[in-house]
Amino acid sequence: MKKISNRLAASTIKNILSKKKIIVTLKELHFLVNRDLKKHSLNYSISMNRLKNLVLDLEEVEVRTKNRKNAKKRNLKKCPVCNKELKKVFGKNLFGKMIHIGYKCKKCSYNSSLFITQPREYIFIWKNKTK
Ligand SMILES: [Zn+2]
Repeated sequence: MKKISNRLAASTIKNILSKKKIIVTLKELHFLVNRDLKKHSLNYSISMNRLKNLVLDLEEVEVRTKNRKNAKKRNLKKCPVCNKELKKVFGKNLFGKMIHIGYKCKKCSYNSSLFITQPREYIFIWKNKTK
């Protein structure tokens, strides 16, 4: 892996977000930035952490965090990712009693019960300024 400059990384992020306007996870942004960096050179890549720190510094990008509490309460019928049937996930509460904690997809890796333990999810929004 070759280390890339902050300038190239920042311009790549801006380029992607100015086209897409909104990206709802750090993972997706990470994927898209790395894909574009590979167009410059196959050895180019950036770590998720460095990308996060960089994008937080960009004044053209508004960063919000998703409220994950709602995800658990939501009554889901279909998988929000692939639209297939969901399985209820149960876990033990403090008293050892089984309680419904979320949903898991039978087809893809979607698992809403993970929202409780996962770190906060980010949303990146392109601020529509004059160019
Ligand atoms: Zn699914």
